[in-house]
Amino acid sequence: MSDAGETAAGIPAANGNRTENGDKKTTRHSEVGHKTLLRSDALFQYILETSVYPREPAALRELREMTALHPWNLMTTSADEGQFLMLLMKLINAKNTLELGVYTGYSLLSTALAIPDDGKIIAIDIHRKNFELGLPFIKKAGVHHKIDFREGQALPILEDLIRDEKNLNFFDFVFVDADKDNYLNYHERLLKLVKVGGLIGYDNTLWNGSVVMPDDTPSPKYIKFYKPFVIELNKFLAADPRIEISMIPIGDGLTLCRRIQ
Ligand code: SAM
Ligand code: CA
Repeated sequence: MSDAGETAAGIPAANGNRTENGDKKTTRHSEVGHKTLLRSDALFQYILETSVYPREPAALRELREMTALHPWNLMTTSADEGQFLMLLMKLINAKNTLELGVYTGYSLLSTALAIPDDGKIIAIDIHRKNFELGLPFIKKAGVHHKIDFREGQALPILEDLIRDEKNLNFFDFVFVDADKDNYLNYHERLLKLVKVGGLIGYDNTLWNGSVVMPDDTPSPKYIKFYKPFVIELNKFLAADPRIEISMIPIGDGLTLCRRIQ
């Protein structure tokens, strides 16, 4: 246990909420009666090694290992979030889904493995070549037939889908993980495509923690650039009466929106 009153895993020890005089400290979390779970990399590693990696399907593990060697690997969905998506698909009995932003396909393969054999995913990305890197793993997993990959900008492809009446109020789930400055544009279209009671998951809504950092905090250019869009999205979703929401602190933040009107 460290001097700061934390266990090796970074979990506050029993005396971690005491001042030097032994008085109880009031932290913001205890004030509002809840705790955030992840306080250290060790704890994240613990989750991965205890409950994620031992259950990760082989094709997903191989896809993750291949992606780790790719120069843009920062973009991939984390394995714990992939596991969460798989469970979520089963909980909501998702059959027809949409994905915006595929990269090498970790979230796509997670979704494809979880939906039924006659389920379908329309997966959109501007770069087919990264999807093709993941394709051998998707084929190996035997779920290629569920995927309809469309190369191009997501917005016009969504407009095309909307023009076909059979796609309206049709999708059970949409995973949005593409260009963050377009999420609000996607939102308006997706509310037409997802059915009432269906879910939209917006990924990266905590945007590397930048949503609560002062604007002059040193951070990569792309973090600074997209930060105002993510903040605007979060405010908008919180106030949108057409959906119920929950912001899940998994990965880089995943906001689940259930369409109610
Ligand atoms: N979900 C992926 C996974 O699990 O690995 C990660 C997606 S990555 C964060 C974002 C992807 O969005 C990139 O592959 C990028 O090519 C794609 N993208 C960016 N802008 C886009 C747009 N306007 N339309 C479609 N795809 C876009
Ligand atoms: Ca993401």
